[in-house]
This record gives sequence, structure tokens and C-alpha cells, in this order.
Amino acid sequence: MTTPTPSLHEQSLSELAASLHRKEVSAVEVAQHFLNRAKNDSCGAFLDINEEITLAQARASDARIAAGTGGCLEGVPIAHKDVFVTRDFATTAGSKMLNGYRSPFDATVVQKLGAGVNGQGGAGMVTLGKVSCDEFAMGSSNENSAYGAVRNPWHTEHVPGGSSGGSAAAVAARLAPAATGTDTGGSIRQPASFCGITGIKPTYGRASRYGMIAYASSLDQAGAMARSAEDCALLLSAMCGADLDRDSTSLDVAAENFSAQLSHPLQGLRVGIPKEFFGDGLAADVRSAIDAALDHLVHQGAQLVPISLPRTELSIPVYYIIAPAEASSNLSRFDGVKFGHRAKDYTDLVDMYKKTRAQGFGDEVKRRIMTGAYVLSHGYYDAYYLQAQKIRRMIADDFQRAFADCDVIAGPVAPTVAWKLGEKADDPIANYLADIFTLPASLAGLPGMSLPVGFGDSGLPVGMQLIGNYLQEARLLNVAHQFQLTTDHHLRTPEGV
Ligand code: GLN
Repeated sequence: MTTPTPSLHEQSLSELAASLHRKEVSAVEVAQHFLNRAKNDSCGAFLDINEEITLAQARASDARIAAGTGGCLEGVPIAHKDVFVTRDFATTAGSKMLNGYRSPFDATVVQKLGAGVNGQGGAGMVTLGKVSCDEFAMGSSNENSAYGAVRNPWHTEHVPGGSSGGSAAAVAARLAPAATGTDTGGSIRQPASFCGITGIKPTYGRASRYGMIAYASSLDQAGAMARSAEDCALLLSAMCGADLDRDSTSLDVAAENFSAQLSHPLQGLRVGIPKEFFGDGLAADVRSAIDAALDHLVHQGAQLVPISLPRTELSIPVYYIIAPAEASSNLSRFDGVKFGHRAKDYTDLVDMYKKTRAQGFGDEVKRRIMTGAYVLSHGYYDAYYLQAQKIRRMIADDFQRAFADCDVIAGPVAPTVAWKLGEKADDPIANYLADIFTLPASLAGLPGMSLPVGFGDSGLPVGMQLIGNYLQEARLLNVAHQFQLTTDHHLRTPEGV
């Protein structure tokens, strides 16, 4: 067995898995290497690290490797977004409401990536710890976490994006080779874009929501964040699959091996370019990085097809009605009785509820609960919620019309690169508007991903979004992989990493 070299954090998931499988390095050594990096985390990505637990998991991996029973990513470390419940680590969802909360079980996704579900072998990954996010996944800068902002490893005065900001920063800074994320309206794609990594949100229902703390259940979806499409394919193959007994919206489709579908050439691929994604609101530096990436796809044999997604702008009001409506219902469970925080001094039950919720929730969460309760209330339901649902359907139909003419849709993930910490912190509307390009696919339940395609004027990464039709994750990953085979944006690291 060789001693671990610093280059462990420069290896891809398949390289790490292969070195572990060949016993060139042990899972304990790999875990220790990443733990040392995570403990010196200067971007504030990690919320909970427990060396003993991680090393115990690594020892179990080493035993499985020795016995020849290891999973496909046996012994490879991963960080989990803090909205996935975990038995061995605290789960806070970035909220004071769940300060120190311990779940009695692991989320399905955590089990599938780890030691497995009900004795059925999992991928064998070792949990490095839990990473930060916006409170209950509400936000796009990670500044809404009750445990402090996360810094963008490329430029520490800038946000990493959100809500899966800790996941993206951890991967970009090579503190973890991979991370889970969740995407309700862009929370995997946008932080992946801001931090220069690759992230994919599969079709709604592809990955189980069991044990994923609910924000807006009709939109929430788990996904993968890593350096490359090849790495994301490995992760996604392990995390997806029907979980019908535990998640009623889980899709009854078999797990797929996405890694086996990456090698198709792009010759003849029809890439839809929605004109609404390239309007005045798009920053010039983002636009030129995307244009260059599209030229590259053409060079690889793809063909660009102009399309229209006419209700793109409406996705903002529609999302910011539906998501808060569902959040107001989902978050009613945090009442001081069943989970987490309970106010100390109260007179009666109602007073206890009020004080607990006033103390436990941050401003943005309260804003969404109030908005949600309002749009669902008698007299306003028809005017807001019902209308929003109708337009949501029209947005999904617009995509189906577009997919008659193209195989994938490409465009920016966000109108700008990562903004400065604090820049939009007091302006919720400015945050909401920046979600414009990620919300349509979320409302339609379509798979979407972000891959790094260059840098803006300030040296911050730019991600390109790819959107596919339902269950077309393999195609998205294939396109991204072919792009990454002939480009190196995904291999760049921030200075000092
Ligand atoms: N930024 C969006 C919001 O604040 C999306 C968040 C997410 O996808 N979880 O709701």
C-alpha cells in the first residue's frame, strides 16, 4: 500500500474508486486526506464533521473491499447537503429551528450512496460530513443559512450561489470529491455554475425524496454535484431509482447506468436555443462564455436550433407563488413539539408555537411562509395559486413544443456570475429575478444540469445549462461529457487549491 499523496483530491471519482479497488490506497487514508482538508475549510462549507464516524465508515469500506463485496464507489468520500437527514451527523437544514437535530434514520439517497438500503448494496461512499445551505433550501446565495454565509472559493468576497452553496464550494475547493445537492428552482445548477463545477438535477421523481427535508414537494429533487459529467454520471446512477413505498411521487422507473451512455458523438445533435434566455438581462461576459461553448458544440457536430419558451418570465411569479404555498404547509411541522427548537418561556400552547417559530425561523423563511399562507387563503387562492398552477402547465407544454424541434436545450444558468456577499442580501426580489433561467425546467419537472464553460470578466466561473426532456439525463450527461473531453474548464481550480 502506498502512502497517500496530496493528489488524492485531484483525482476523479472513477480514479479514486479504481485506486481503492486495487488497494493502492485505503479508504481510511482517503477519508483522512479529505477530513484534513475539510477541517481547514476556509470557505465555511462544512457544518458538521465527525472524524470518528467517517473513519468508522471508511474502515467498513476497507473491509468490504478486502472481501470483494464493495460497491461501485466503495470508499470514495462524499459530503451531503444538510437537508438530507443523517443518523450519524446533525441535520439542520441551515436553520436554527433544527439546531443539533439528529434524525433516527438516513435519507434514501444517503443510504443508496452509502452502505445500501435494506441490505441491498449501496455505492459504498463514505460520508465526510454535512455541508451548508440556505435555510430550508430557500435562497440563491447561501446567505440565508443560520450558520453563516459560505464563501466562493474562486473569490472569497463573492457568494457560492445557493441553496446548495456548501456542496458547490466544497467540491470547487476540493474539500470533497463529490456532494449531494437538492434543486427546487435551481439550487444545484446555479451554485454549480457559480463555483465552476458540474451539477445535475434529474427528472422530478427520479431520486427519492424520502429523508430530504421538504421545501416545495412538487418541485424538490435530489441530484449530484462533482467536478465532471463523468463523475456526476457515477453518482446519479447510484442515487436514482424507484422508492415507491417511501416517496409517493417517486417515479416507477428502473435505475439506469448513466456512465455507460457517455460515449455517443454529438454529430447531428439538435441543440435548442431559447431566445428568451439571451435577452437584455443577460450579462455580456456570461453571454460570450455561453456563445463560445455553443460554437464548440457546433464544432463537435451539433446543430443550433432557434426555439422559444415564451413564458420564461412568468416562471418567476409562478414559482414564487407555488413554492411558498407548499413551503407554508411543509414547514407547519416545525412547531416546537416534534422536532428541534422549542421556545423556553411561554404561557400556553399557542404562545409556545408562536415563540418557537418566531425564534427558530429566519427572515426569508418567514417571508415565504407568509406569502404561501396568503396565496392559499380564501379569496386569494383562485387569483394566485390556481392561476399559477395553470401557467405552470402551460410552461411544461411550451417545453414539449420545443422538444419537437430539438434534442436538448442550452442556455445560461444565471444572468450573471456570482455576486458579492451582501450585495443582494436585503433585496429578496433581486434574488428571485436571478432565478429566471433555472425556474422553467423546475416547474416542468425536467432534468437540467450545469457545466463549467469559462469565466466572466472578474475571473468567476460561468456555467452553461442543459435541459432535457423527461428521463433524458443520460443524454444531458453525454453532451456534457463530450464537451468536457475536449475542453478543460472543469479541471481548473481556484488559486491556492
Ligand atoms: N433560489 C430558489 C429559491 O430561493 C431556488 C432554491 C432551490 O432550488 N432550493 O427558492
